[in-house]
Amino acid sequence: MGKKLKFKTYNLDLGNKKLVELHSKSLDKHGVLKGRNKKETKVLKATCMHHKLNKKGKLKSRVSDVDKNGVCHCLMCEADFRALPYTKEDRKKALADSLNLIDNTKFYATAVGVNESAQRVLAEAAVTMRVVAKINKKVTKIVMKKDNLSEKKKKNDVESTLGSWSTKRK
Ligand SMILES: [Zn+2]
Repeated sequence: MGKKLKFKTYNLDLGNKKLVELHSKSLDKHGVLKGRNKKETKVLKATCMHHKLNKKGKLKSRVSDVDKNGVCHCLMCEADFRALPYTKEDRKKALADSLNLIDNTKFYATAVGVNESAQRVLAEAAVTMRVVAKINKKVTKIVMKKDNLSEKKKKNDVESTLGSWSTKRK
């Protein structure tokens, strides 16, 4: 076989600090994540937990601006994502879509001969994605219980859905 197709992969080095602590200490004066260079900023934004610690060390959500489609915005990493808790059906579909992308990539990447470390990233993603869905299922249960709202009611009530979980922009 010919030369391997090389894709750059790198190990995430997030140091020893807890994630939320690391992100809390990497904010610019506007409250947006910023690293020492472009790559670091990219990694900080990609690993954002959408929360920070305030001056008293209390955990604060940094998500606001829920639109009519239930999409919210993180003030730290500037990501827009679904604020509504996932229903069982939606979660199943989202996982299937993600796995489809990963499997499609695994298949073609191997066929064209990508390097071993790129294959490893894809293999890890396939395992990780399944864990993500499991964690989502568990925490959604807890969130629903805390807000004391049924899935049906949530669908029609985007504003109150995020309720105590959101940050109002001031
Ligand atoms: Zn974020």
